[in-house]
Amino acid sequence: MNERPSEIIKKAYAEGRSFLFEHEAKELCGLYGLPVTKGKVATSENEGVEEAKKMGFPVVLKIVSPQILHKSDVGGVVLNVKDESEVREAYGRIMSNVKAKQPDAHIEGIFVQEMAPSSTEVIVGANKDPAFGYTIMFGLGGIFVEVLKDVSFRLVPITKLDAEEMIHEIKSYRILEGARGMPKADESALVDILLSTSKMLMDCPQISELDMNPILIYEKGAKVVDARIILEEKK
Ligand code: ADP
Ligand code: MG
Repeated sequence: MNERPSEIIKKAYAEGRSFLFEHEAKELCGLYGLPVTKGKVATSENEGVEEAKKMGFPVVLKIVSPQILHKSDVGGVVLNVKDESEVREAYGRIMSNVKAKQPDAHIEGIFVQEMAPSSTEVIVGANKDPAFGYTIMFGLGGIFVEVLKDVSFRLVPITKLDAEEMIHEIKSYRILEGARGMPKADESALVDILLSTSKMLMDCPQISELDMNPILIYEKGAKVVDARIILEEKK
């Protein structure tokens, strides 16, 4: 692996942050082969329009601020932005939402990213324990994890068999198999995501918490549409 993963982490520490912005977390994840959405941070409305045009519509706009970890809570996410005038409208709307809800937040810019088609949502998370190292977690998104706590865990590093078992042992597995008219999920893409995540964690011991929530899973392939990485406090 090249130097880029440690550069991304060093930059955050140098700026006094013990977390990565979404675009940094996605860049890091992308270096390990995780299927993240493409995107670019814009620092003006015009730049936002330029990036959206380059990317192709529809796009998603999200707030980038060191004070905001839960972006939709402050009206900091606008989905399905379809043309230039909608980019301008969404850009302005996010700015005013954030100013109203969190006036102290320093705004770094707006992350313009490709809009992934909606599908079944899964999540992959990880936590570091000082004694046992990383635990990786897998589950379906939304109520399955929040209400039903239907998730599976393994210690990292995991093998391909571990990844397959993690996917099969959740109670809601039948949804991934295509129950009730849901699309059948690409299980090999999920296995690859779990294995790549395990590799990234072994390679980047500064990560203390990881949350890819949600990951949209299709009949072929998957897209990580949100990624949050918390780093250990710098020693
Ligand atoms: P938060 O910081 O609030 O968790 P997210 O980045 O997860 O913000 O965005 C909120 C929701 O918007 C996600 O749960 C997902 O359903 C949807 N979403 C976010 N980014 C995309 C995207 N690039 N394509 C499609 N849907 C998205
Ligand atoms: Mg999220």
